[in-house]
Amino acid sequence: MPIDWETVPPPEPLGEELVELMRELFPIPRSLTGDGVRETLRVLAREVPLEVVETPTGTQVFDWVAPREWKLRGAWIEGPDGERIVDVADSPLHVLGYSTPVDAVVSLEEVRDHVFTHEDPDLVPYRTSYWTEQWGFCMSRRRLESLEPGGYHVVVDAELADGSLTSGELTLEGERESEFLLSTYVCHPALANDNLSGIVVLWALARTLARQRLEHTYRLLWSPGTLGPLAWLARNLETLDRVQNGLVVSCVGDPGPLRYKRSRRGDAPVDRAAAHVLGREPDSIVGDWQPTGGDERQYCSPGFDLPVGTLSRTPHGLFPEYHSSADDLSFVRPEALAASYRAALEIVNVVETNASFRNLSPYGEPQLGRRGLYQSVPDGTNPELAYLWLLNLSDGRHDLLAIAERSGLPFDALREAAATLERHDLLERLG
Ligand code: ZN
Repeated sequence: MPIDWETVPPPEPLGEELVELMRELFPIPRSLTGDGVRETLRVLAREVPLEVVETPTGTQVFDWVAPREWKLRGAWIEGPDGERIVDVADSPLHVLGYSTPVDAVVSLEEVRDHVFTHEDPDLVPYRTSYWTEQWGFCMSRRRLESLEPGGYHVVVDAELADGSLTSGELTLEGERESEFLLSTYVCHPALANDNLSGIVVLWALARTLARQRLEHTYRLLWSPGTLGPLAWLARNLETLDRVQNGLVVSCVGDPGPLRYKRSRRGDAPVDRAAAHVLGREPDSIVGDWQPTGGDERQYCSPGFDLPVGTLSRTPHGLFPEYHSSADDLSFVRPEALAASYRAALEIVNVVETNASFRNLSPYGEPQLGRRGLYQSVPDGTNPELAYLWLLNLSDGRHDLLAIAERSGLPFDALREAAATLERHDLLERLG
């Protein structure tokens, strides 16, 4: 069914609302597991009825195992004079994600062995060590280099224990069983574009889609990177053939141009819809599949090969603020968030309404003027050009998207013109 655009919030208040939501989510200490993810999902669930799904520690998910849960109570370094050098109370970036516990007085040399810095001397990097046990901190190189020799009290008050990996899921039933998967990751602390932007845009999409009459069934997933999608794939193994379209939404708040990365298949309906929608946005980029990036790597691994593309602006790793304290709320733009949301919704709208027709009067052109469909003096408002393309290409082999691609006309204009021709018994809907 077409999206009811009356239910879609205008860009300006929406962008501001999404930035406000990011401001609330920013300080929550998210990680691969733990209460930070649960708290994030609780905030989202205020307006979107998502279900929290827990995958217990030790659960085998294909070649991976759900890890132990990391519970962090506090982490800091105190200098020889008792001054706090860094403290996670100031920013969750200051501790190495999944740091093992430590409580010791160590030399400056040993501090240096456990501190991670960024190539920009003023930025704090975001680092994790999920699969190698070590303790560590992150701080700016300038701060580290200012430290004097002496005894440093290092404390990571944390626990790695059996627990679970937490995801949020929402299913919006459509008329059909065929599924459209919308997915983003929820495991980064205090980073705005790389993570929160995807979380809030997916939240806004969920809220809008919940108000539509839908053809396809929508499955929305907010889950920790890599492990979350793998756990979802393992849980849904029996019904994965229903997934006919999918979109990973990530890094959608920066000022860079909109970008779509095709699924591994490259020619799924979502790939064609995204190419059409982004093709009408100035400066946008449509690129081919590559086995790099985020959660699309799991959905598009050869055993699944799901038709899942990726909508982003500047992708992971390609903006200088990436994985550092500079990826903060000042880096994201309300208008970029709103436009990313709108593009995703337009892609959904095309997938929802694409159809094929057959011309019922294919021998010569039908006489449009007799039916009031032809203006002898075109005034720019007459959809005559759309009628001509539709009548010419509606041979069962070209769907509306193919006609949009071939004609350069907007998909919605063709869809509306097709409905008019259907009413005049000039086109018949197929399938
Ligand atoms: Zn990241």
